[in-house]
Amino acid sequence: MAASLWLRGAASGLRYWSRRQRPAAASLAAVCSRSVASKTPVGFIGLGNMGNPMAKNLMKHGYPLVIYDVFPDACKEFREAGEQVVSSPADVAEKADRIITMLPTSMNAIEAYSGANGILKKVKKGSLLIDSSTIDPSVSKELAKEVEKMGAVFMDAPVSGGVGAARSGNLTFMVGGVEEEFAAAKELLGCMGSNVVYCGAVGTGQAAKICNNMLLAISMIGTAEAMNLGIRLGLDPKLLAKILNMSSGRCWSSDTYNPVPGVMDGVPSANNYQGGFGTTLMAKDLGLAQDSATNTKSPIFLGSQAHQIYRMMCAKGYSKKDFSSVFQFLREEETF
Ligand code: NAD
Repeated sequence: MAASLWLRGAASGLRYWSRRQRPAAASLAAVCSRSVASKTPVGFIGLGNMGNPMAKNLMKHGYPLVIYDVFPDACKEFREAGEQVVSSPADVAEKADRIITMLPTSMNAIEAYSGANGILKKVKKGSLLIDSSTIDPSVSKELAKEVEKMGAVFMDAPVSGGVGAARSGNLTFMVGGVEEEFAAAKELLGCMGSNVVYCGAVGTGQAAKICNNMLLAISMIGTAEAMNLGIRLGLDPKLLAKILNMSSGRCWSSDTYNPVPGVMDGVPSANNYQGGFGTTLMAKDLGLAQDSATNTKSPIFLGSQAHQIYRMMCAKGYSKKDFSSVFQFLREEETF
């Protein structure tokens, strides 16, 4: 059914109806401009490190919000700002026909959509549900089927960019779902990101995200190992980073997010690895890559090794630190 859905305006704002009712190009343009003039509430579920600044960017663009988080304190500043805070995902779905979820894991997303008080209990026909969490692509596909049965549309739209990009509205969204619905999703995602990329069918946004994060983990471990070795060989860390960044070893982990304290300002390594992208979340994403590699019979020798390293870090007390703390972990393992 999702393939037959098409964006149409309603007096109350944007709704999604069957393609049979697709308006002519001229009237669609009129509908779109009306929807900009009168913005209907957008639901937002999961106001953590990423969801909080993302929801604030929607507010800056004039969207009233309907908010829910299992952790009530996460909603406090939105309530104080006059946004509606409700007591379950089902209540969000009752009050908003466009909903964004930003949750830690696949299990959290299943709970928010299909749980006893989940979105699906009260979702309205024609609603657009966008999941920006990083979760298993197969879970995204299952959720899409459930949502479709209710006459609504599901898209996966995980993000790259971290908390800084979430604050500045410069995230990259990787979007999977029915292509005809992409424009409607982009209208909201464009308020929170500078790149909104259509990847293909449901689940392909997650696939792109998982591949990116596997590469990121490998390059971060590689950068940390190279920096540590150079320091042990007597090189000044700042000088070594400068040389790497003008040579073929350069990567995002070396030139933008260097893991060695004192090399760069404004990154987690300059702040005892506080904030940023948690080691637990990186271990989770590598687990998703591992599962996907098993399912598709793809060899990921380095990805598997990276998964084990991040799991070990979680077991050794690094779970709440930024993932660049792998440098500190290597320093502590130096007796190997
Ligand atoms: P977080 O743990 O800071 O926030 C998640 C929020 O969801 C919390 O406030 C939590 O209370 C809430 N929550 C959990 N289960 C819920 C439920 N069933 N219903 C309602 N609320 C629920 O996580 P985060 O750092 O914001 O990350 C969110 C997602 O974005 C993760 O999938 C992560 O992998 C991904 N991501 C994070 C970053 C980053 O730098 N932090 C970057 C890119 C992608």
